[in-house]
Amino acid sequence: MKFGGTSVQDAAAFARVAEIVAGERENSPVVVTSAMARVTDSLLAAFETARKDNFETALLSLDPNFERHLEVSRELTNDEQQKSFRRELELSKKEIGDLLERVSRRSLPLQMLKDAIVSYGEQLSSRLLTEVCCAINLNTRQVDARRLIVTDEEYGAATPVWNETEKLVRLELQPSIDNGEIPVLGGFIGATYSGETTTLGRGGSDYSAALIGAALRTGEIQIWTDVTGVLTCDPRIVPEARTLKTLSYEEAAELAYFGAKVLHPKTIQPAVDFSIPVRVCNSHKPDERGTMILPKSETTRRKVKSIAHKTGITILRISSARMLGSYGFMSALFQIFERYRTVIDVISTSEVSVSLTLDDTTSLDAIIKELKRLGEVEIETNNAVVCVVGEGLRGTSGVASQIFSTISDINISLISHGASSVNMTFVVKEAQVKEVIKRLHKTFFK
Ligand code: ADP
Ligand code: ASP
Ligand code: MG
Repeated sequence: MKFGGTSVQDAAAFARVAEIVAGERENSPVVVTSAMARVTDSLLAAFETARKDNFETALLSLDPNFERHLEVSRELTNDEQQKSFRRELELSKKEIGDLLERVSRRSLPLQMLKDAIVSYGEQLSSRLLTEVCCAINLNTRQVDARRLIVTDEEYGAATPVWNETEKLVRLELQPSIDNGEIPVLGGFIGATYSGETTTLGRGGSDYSAALIGAALRTGEIQIWTDVTGVLTCDPRIVPEARTLKTLSYEEAAELAYFGAKVLHPKTIQPAVDFSIPVRVCNSHKPDERGTMILPKSETTRRKVKSIAHKTGITILRISSARMLGSYGFMSALFQIFERYRTVIDVISTSEVSVSLTLDDTTSLDAIIKELKRLGEVEIETNNAVVCVVGEGLRGTSGVASQIFSTISDINISLISHGASSVNMTFVVKEAQVKEVIKRLHKTFFK
């Protein structure tokens, strides 16, 4: 059972979570929690303040967040628990202060310090949730996720080492579960072989839960969030968006990858590997069923099930006469992206040009410099990818024309259709993406 930041944003939310866990007591749950809402952002901001000016200001800026944790403990736990949590918090504060000072002195690699600092969000929330559950007589035990999730050294976006993680999760958690305990872990965090703290990327608690669920071959991975399941589109754009009853792994993976924030893009893989159902449900409305993500799902009459989008996309167009009828060009092109560890999202080619989109522009300048050896390069920023998803989309005539006639007055720069049988992806200007989503939603879900 994974609870996101808004599911543990304040005392009322913590109390709800404890009740939800109590309701699953008979099913031997394992609990994974995110940091309290906004805490990860504040820790990252404190890191930046320490890097740019002053570590004391940075530490002070965190006080309101520390206070939020204490408030929950005061409202929901007994005196002894409050004392012990306060002690833990004071220790964490000292350690964070020390790490922030190291940031300003550059006394260790910054990326390593950043992950160490940011991990306190989940360290504290998992401790607090353990106490809150204990206070209603649940037999919870906090377990440090860093002892179980072993990762590589890519700080900020570490990749778990599956075999090792699987072994440790089973070794540590199974006996505890067999003893009737409910382990509570912080999501998002792991550690390298040598014990340095790492993080799995923003929103990574979903991924932690899936890894742990897969290692234990659990019957269900539950993602508890602030909306009822996966919806027909982002409810911040279309408030009437509806909950989908079921989705296939493939559909969910495409939606998550192309921006449906409700699931971290890597969440599905561990579930796929062991055919474990994933349920997305609402911690504010625990009685609603939410969405079941299963190995297979049916095609619906409309075919289209959901529309995702991702902003901040850069298009690169590489044109070269050398490409005409030559082999080896694509390979040379892809090698450049491989060297800079940059992922290409959407790609489309003609005889003499290739257009592709990037989300991560960290190495853009270096990439462009190398691409210029292959041909002319054009760059276009501020785009958005729109991804229309539904089982059987590829084999269905008429859906494409419905999509494009709905937005016929809007310029589309790249289209990808047919690579996957469940999606159709295209690129529009960022300023127009909300309008595009609204219109498509109206066409397919009115
Ligand atoms: P948590 O803190 O629980 O991990 P997130 O903020 O990461 O929650 O994800 C939930 C949010 O994802 C929702 O509040 C919603 O605004 C957004 N979202 C975007 N697309 C979708 C979608 N298709 N279905 C459901 N939620 C979506
Ligand atoms: N707390 C982390 C974040 O805000 C991880 C998560 O919530 O999933 O990105
Ligand atoms: Mg999330």
